[in-house]
Amino acid sequence: MIELKGIPASGGIAIGPAYLWTKEEFVVPKQGISDEQIASQIQIFEEALIKTRREILDLQRKIADEMGQTEAEIFDAHLLVLEDRTIIEEVISRMKKEKLIAAYIFQDVLKKYVQVFLRIEDEYLKERVSDISDVGRRVLRNLLGKAAKHFEDLQEKVILVSHDLSPSDTAAMHKKNILAFVTNIGGKTSHTAIMAKSMEIAAVVGVEAVTLKIKTGDILIVDGTNGAVIINPDISTLEKYQEEETAFRDITHRFILLKDKPAVTPDGKRVQVAANIELPDEIPSIIEHGAEGIGLYRTEFFYMNRTDLPSEEEHYEAYKFVAEAMSEQSVIIRTLDLGGDKFLSHLEIPREMSPFLGWRAIRYCLARPDMFKAQLSAVLRASCHGKLKLMYPMISGIEELRQANLLLEECKNKLRSQGMPFDESMEVGAMIEVPSAAMTTDILAKEVDFFSIGTNDLIQYSIAVDRSNEKVAYLYEPAHPGVLRLIKSIIDAGHNANIWVGMCGEMGGDPLFTVILLGLGLDEFSMPSVMIPEIKHIIRAVTMAQAKEIAAQALTLSTSKEVEDFSRSKYKELRLMI
Ligand code: PEP
Ligand code: MG
Repeated sequence: MIELKGIPASGGIAIGPAYLWTKEEFVVPKQGISDEQIASQIQIFEEALIKTRREILDLQRKIADEMGQTEAEIFDAHLLVLEDRTIIEEVISRMKKEKLIAAYIFQDVLKKYVQVFLRIEDEYLKERVSDISDVGRRVLRNLLGKAAKHFEDLQEKVILVSHDLSPSDTAAMHKKNILAFVTNIGGKTSHTAIMAKSMEIAAVVGVEAVTLKIKTGDILIVDGTNGAVIINPDISTLEKYQEEETAFRDITHRFILLKDKPAVTPDGKRVQVAANIELPDEIPSIIEHGAEGIGLYRTEFFYMNRTDLPSEEEHYEAYKFVAEAMSEQSVIIRTLDLGGDKFLSHLEIPREMSPFLGWRAIRYCLARPDMFKAQLSAVLRASCHGKLKLMYPMISGIEELRQANLLLEECKNKLRSQGMPFDESMEVGAMIEVPSAAMTTDILAKEVDFFSIGTNDLIQYSIAVDRSNEKVAYLYEPAHPGVLRLIKSIIDAGHNANIWVGMCGEMGGDPLFTVILLGLGLDEFSMPSVMIPEIKHIIRAVTMAQAKEIAAQALTLSTSKEVEDFSRSKYKELRLMI
């Protein structure tokens, strides 16, 4: 039995067999062929090229429709690689000479080209390496007749062990046979961790070299609440965790009984406790947990696990579905927030040195107005079907907000001229997650209807700590006095301008900070739905007068640890823990 420690990313206990998962890698055997098979191998190779060409042309057509001709032209480089006679002829002549299968020779030729390009002192040509590799993977997949690797094939329930998982990998786990996951790298508020919470899958991330320590078939215990992973436990440990699993379920059940009670303090202060979602099919689960609306719909997940862009119609259908499903409850749709750890290769966003500081979110959308307007129009059209609100991510200052609002106005005018109905009074808000926005909230507040504090990013930018890097995870402190002061100033600025202020970062769903946030005057708490019943329990048990007093004292403390210890002691005193 071995016990490993990592970062607790998503609560709960899971017990089951390990499954070591690696990214799509093609292991091509060095397989010989006979003289008679050469012609058929050449044919297989040519068919794979044709199929790949067709895939790329389809993709290019969709991108031209959605984003414009310039963006689609990026794929010309991919087509050029496919049509490169030197590569094709080299593969065919080597196949004839060496009598090896097409896939093996093709992979070898490609490797050689990549190495040549990497040696060239020309940045433009160096960048072509990713084109060659991308096309190469597509051709290889077609040559080997493989579908893109995903989790559908898992026959039994497993615990996934992987070096890393992208948010799109995690999204693809939904309703598959996955009990929990463990990764070598990652942080508490990486989107992979956030997705795990939404899907109620226990997860521990940042477990050093875990993929070297676990084999497929090992029996694992994953304790996502405490960040522990136990390999091949002995009987007494197994029994202890089975009991803990039952206790965890019991507590969850006791909280769930509160789910339909309103989030109101004993002295009458009403706040809203809403859910964060990534996918529309989470709605039954959030209703089951008693969500009073959706405070953050991360629409970027709509763009994942597909090779084309969603059309305006698809956006519209999804938002209409969510609006209708939540009926009278409000739904805040956040516009596309790609970039950072949410990376999509098919959108041709270049890999950057500092992706969290790079071309992401609203910056990307403002540079792609056609794509952005398709989303904005769809939200407006869907606004007649429920109570939708719109929110922009990563606003860094008033100019970006104005540009986004200008595009929104263009969409409204177009709909008006077409006689298409939409909710003229739909609220529009800004996420406050960049320190420069947090420091100019008085200016921003005049041009929005609400703020939603994105603590996941606000903490990483204000403490200068990468939210998905396990090596600096110890610095990622929501209770840092600097962060608490920023939060207070955002809430105060919002209230001074008579707008409401919510929080949709993970801190909003952390029970340890509920009373402090309540005392600072937060109007809306949005979180992974599993946390809703517990947060409601706390809000219903503390008066506003107590919360204000606790928040004021917390603000006088000097370190995160002092704030956390203080908060814990108050919870004990007020019997806020179940
Ligand atoms: C945040 O940054 O707090 C937030 C809610 O957005 P995301 O986690 O998607 O970056
Ligand atoms: Mg964010």
